[in-house]
Amino acid sequence: SKAIGGHSFRFYAPAMNERQQRLLALESELHRALERREFVLHYQPQANLATGEISGVEALLRWNHSKRGLVAPNDFIPLLEETGLIDEVGLWVLRQACQDMLQLKAEYGHAPRVSVNLSARQFSSGCLAEKVAAVLRDTRLPAEQLELEITEQMLINDLESSRSTLGALRDLGVTVAIDDFGTGYCSLAYLKRLPLHVLKIDRTFVSGLPGDLNDLAIVEAITLLAHKLDLQVIAEGVETAAQLETLRALGCDMVQGYYLSKPVPLDKLGSAAALTV
Ligand code: C2E
Ligand code: CA
Ligand code: CA
Ligand code: CA
Repeated sequence: SKAIGGHSFRFYAPAMNERQQRLLALESELHRALERREFVLHYQPQANLATGEISGVEALLRWNHSKRGLVAPNDFIPLLEETGLIDEVGLWVLRQACQDMLQLKAEYGHAPRVSVNLSARQFSSGCLAEKVAAVLRDTRLPAEQLELEITEQMLINDLESSRSTLGALRDLGVTVAIDDFGTGYCSLAYLKRLPLHVLKIDRTFVSGLPGDLNDLAIVEAITLLAHKLDLQVIAEGVETAAQLETLRALGCDMVQGYYLSKPVPLDKLGSAAALTV
């Protein structure tokens, strides 16, 4: 503040602080983004280690901002969750991912299974299976080509409603993967009592391979456990050949990570999917 003639001018604390104003502005920008169709999906290939084929892809949301360029999901998904906009955006993601796989099928004669991330709000909404069924019906994607990713935390928030939601998804023929596995607090006992199909080992356990003996032990134990429970194992965040070979030796089923390919737009997936491991 500047003192003039003994009086000082001061600014009053605005009703909203700067952070709140920024969030409010971002929220209305996100509304507009939805209307202007500024959201896009990128796809990251998942390789099957037994066959060497790209048998899956994960759909990852990006915001193609007119000024800021491609915005990463961690910068806007929390706000979509907070404002409830995630319901609409999440449904768009599901529909777009299914449509994109059908487009690949039309072009190449076949398409990988697509894995779609769900937010906590979508998973606990109570009508998830109905929404998924409607998208499958409208797009005509076979249910076995769709996988949904949820986290341990979403499962254990309300175990009983999780069980019925998962049961309804299984009845549709859709598979479910536990994302970031090992970072949450899921009791191992739940795993065998719920209709689940895939564990995705979090990249924090993959990054220490092959040198870190603790990570090696954790990945080996998760893989053994998963296989005993009839679950498939995908390792996330595979960045080096040494990591891939270690995961292969440990019996991991599938790998995903920058070593194979970064997430790419649909039209680049054809060449990314030509990779073999
Ligand atoms: P996630 O589901 O765990 O996705 C994996 C993230 O790791 C992605 O970041 C991916 O680009 C990145 N990644 C892949 N391979 C590597 C690697 O080798 N090394 C490293 N360091 N990173 C790798 P991204 O795309 O920024 O997504 C961040 C998170 O945003 C996702 O984590 C997911 O939780 C969330 N997300 C993305 N798309 C959606 C969506 O459509 N709906 C919802 N609800 N969440 C989404
Ligand atoms: Ca995921
Ligand atoms: Ca993950
Ligand atoms: Ca995550």
